[in-house]
Amino acid sequence: MKAAEAGRPPQRLAILGSTGSIGTSTLDVVARHPGRFEVVGLSAQQRIDELIAQCLRWRPRFAVAADEARARRVRDALRAQGVATEVRSGPGALCDLAAAPEVDSVMAAIVGAAGLPPCLAAARAGKRLLLANKEAIVVGGALFLRAVREGGATLLPIDSEHSAIFQCLPPDRAAWPATIDHLLLTASGGPFRERDPASFDRITPEEAVAHPNWVMGRKISVDSATMMNKALEVIEARWLFDLAPRHVRVVIHPQSIVHSMVVCRDGSVLAQMGTPDMRVPIAYGLSFPERIESGAPRLDFHALAPLSFEPADERRFPSLALAWAALEGPAGSTTVLNAANEVAVEAFLDRRIGFDAIHRLNAAMLAQVQPEGAPDSIDALLALDARTRAHAAAWVQANAR
Ligand code: NAD
Ligand code: MG
Repeated sequence: MKAAEAGRPPQRLAILGSTGSIGTSTLDVVARHPGRFEVVGLSAQQRIDELIAQCLRWRPRFAVAADEARARRVRDALRAQGVATEVRSGPGALCDLAAAPEVDSVMAAIVGAAGLPPCLAAARAGKRLLLANKEAIVVGGALFLRAVREGGATLLPIDSEHSAIFQCLPPDRAAWPATIDHLLLTASGGPFRERDPASFDRITPEEAVAHPNWVMGRKISVDSATMMNKALEVIEARWLFDLAPRHVRVVIHPQSIVHSMVVCRDGSVLAQMGTPDMRVPIAYGLSFPERIESGAPRLDFHALAPLSFEPADERRFPSLALAWAALEGPAGSTTVLNAANEVAVEAFLDRRIGFDAIHRLNAAMLAQVQPEGAPDSIDALLALDARTRAHAAAWVQANAR
């Protein structure tokens, strides 16, 4: 039965980063459930024509573009079609959208630390916060969780590994510490699991973004190739499930069928499985605690390739260890690591540094940029982020090809 028929008001949804991989998959799930969701807000940074097309299709109350010139384009295009969406621009407008009283749920699908301020705004406003934007929690850490707690928000993981773990755990959070011995995040190993590491300096952006199992945005695709994605996910899991860093571990599982596991105190291991399709965790976040159709193809156990597991090779993937190094370093170190990596990935995609330099830059910044006391406000976090980016940009300059 459709929600509207059941007499339930639609869930009013804002999608931050609606033109990206997660954003469009979210709209794909929403489209399967007429009446259950109302798209109240959409936002995009670059692909403005796509934002316009989305607004024409979904007729949201609000839309946010990167800057005023782009906002004007959206406004004009919508007005010409008689669509009355209120179009604004800039980071402040994103925070306003995330906290708007017309919004029940926020899908945080922006890439990078730029997503932190609107995530905090949604958390403080007590929204149901669907978190795909892992960099926000990596940068925000304890501050982010405090905002969720104090705002009375509901934080639902969308990253497939964290959704898997969330699905395996008992509904009552108070039972988690007594349940979990440790977590096993699965990692596909990315496109270079078997490539000779001696040739890593010759990897091109095209090779790095071609992930064997998942179709994703460019930044997370490069992160998957370096294994920084898993490093960010280790940090994300530490915060989401409130664990000591050593209780978050990683295993390579090239088929991406087991999306992660909880190793319980009694030795039982709970795993969540499915085809590698982000619509599953997205649908779970949208409908939690219920389940709705996601559109993902079903697992066929008769046709399934053998599932294999192996340890992560630290020489091939030196970035992975930076997760624990940052978590055990001074408060703020995960902010430094994330900012360094954002600069490194962009420089690699722009062909200014080699693939192997991404790790060197990240490790160098972690060693070089010392947080000055524990950053205890968003301003302090953003200042540390900016300081790291300046050091990282200088490193790129000095090490450019
Ligand atoms: P993407 O690059 O495809 O999309 C990013 C979206 O954010 C776009 O709509 C873009 O316009 C917007 N955006 C980019 N920079 C912005 C800025 N500075 N300010 C405002 N908006 C901005 O990225 P994606 O693959 O959809 O990933 C989004 C987030 O979800 C990332 O944090 C990623 O790590 C996480 N995630 C993605 C996947 C996946 O399968 N794609 C899986 C797990 C987690
Ligand atoms: Mg993931």
